[in-house]
Amino acid sequence: MKETVVSGIRSTGNLHLGNYFGAIRNFVKMQHQHNCYFFVADWHSLTTHPTPENLHTNIRSVLSEYLACGIDPDVATLYVQSDVPEIPELYLLLNMNAYVGELERTTSFKDKVRKQPENVNAGLLTYPVLMAADIIIHRANKVPVGKDQEQNLEMARKFARRFNHMYKVDFFPEPKAFSFSNELIKIPGLDGSGKMGKSEGNAINLIDEEKVIRKKVMRAVTDSGPQEPDQEPTEPIANLFSLMEVVSEPETLTHFKDSYAKCSIRYGDLKKQLAEDIIKFNAPIRERILEISANDDYLRSVVKKGAEKARESASASIREVRKIIGYKSF
Ligand code: AMP
Repeated sequence: MKETVVSGIRSTGNLHLGNYFGAIRNFVKMQHQHNCYFFVADWHSLTTHPTPENLHTNIRSVLSEYLACGIDPDVATLYVQSDVPEIPELYLLLNMNAYVGELERTTSFKDKVRKQPENVNAGLLTYPVLMAADIIIHRANKVPVGKDQEQNLEMARKFARRFNHMYKVDFFPEPKAFSFSNELIKIPGLDGSGKMGKSEGNAINLIDEEKVIRKKVMRAVTDSGPQEPDQEPTEPIANLFSLMEVVSEPETLTHFKDSYAKCSIRYGDLKKQLAEDIIKFNAPIRERILEISANDDYLRSVVKKGAEKARESASASIREVRKIIGYKSF
């Protein structure tokens, strides 16, 4: 059965390997099987206060990067979030039934409070509500996201359920997380711990030049080497193996894991190989990004078509939601 799938990526910077393996790789596969809506989350990006120039440049790059990764705008609906005014209307309505206590308890909010105490804005607090609006506006059943987004998706399910319960309807389906491998992937960063992320400053971007990739990988955190045969790798090394698992040939990974187990591994060699494999993986995508981002006419037509298709679905939902809530015409 064809399901409705929705997912977006914040336009706060360039797309990185975490975005690709955690999300976009699945988008590309899913677009041929389901009714897919993919968007550039440019309202979400405002929580970091971009300048007007940066805002536009970032929307443009994420859009070009989506296309370069293989999202086909003739197959999926690919749009820019701020082209769909029905989303903030639903966000406002959902905010009335979202409680400050539950929003304050989300891990992503608590993380932000810790990391940027000087900018704890209300947009950050209600981020999961906007995310819920993004998803349920198309009455989606499936959301291909990485492991880091599990809790936000749980909130989206809760808001959908709460709306249905409050108005005694069965209008919004409860969206489920989706990954082809049946296991949500987490791509680690190069700084020894945690995930790869734009705001973590530890990402390898799909657009990065060869020498930038080499520099980033060669600086990756390691440890002082295995102390005894067959020991479990420490976190920084396990992270490098995880990256190798997605970009390298299986034999390459086996080779380095074996030499780790035998205590003969040289981290310099491991990093060199990893850098070359990332470069090889990124090269065709990077080439397409450069080509697409130089083509204004193409980007304009993609955005226009995407906005039309997304608004058609969003306005149908909003019409129903207004009726359910009790707005009537005079
Ligand atoms: P963001 O860049 O935080 O807007 O995330 C956009 C999408 O990429 C979401 O579906 C995330 O789950 C996914 N994603 C971002 N970083 C990672 C990562 N390090 N590992 C796996 N998935 C990720």
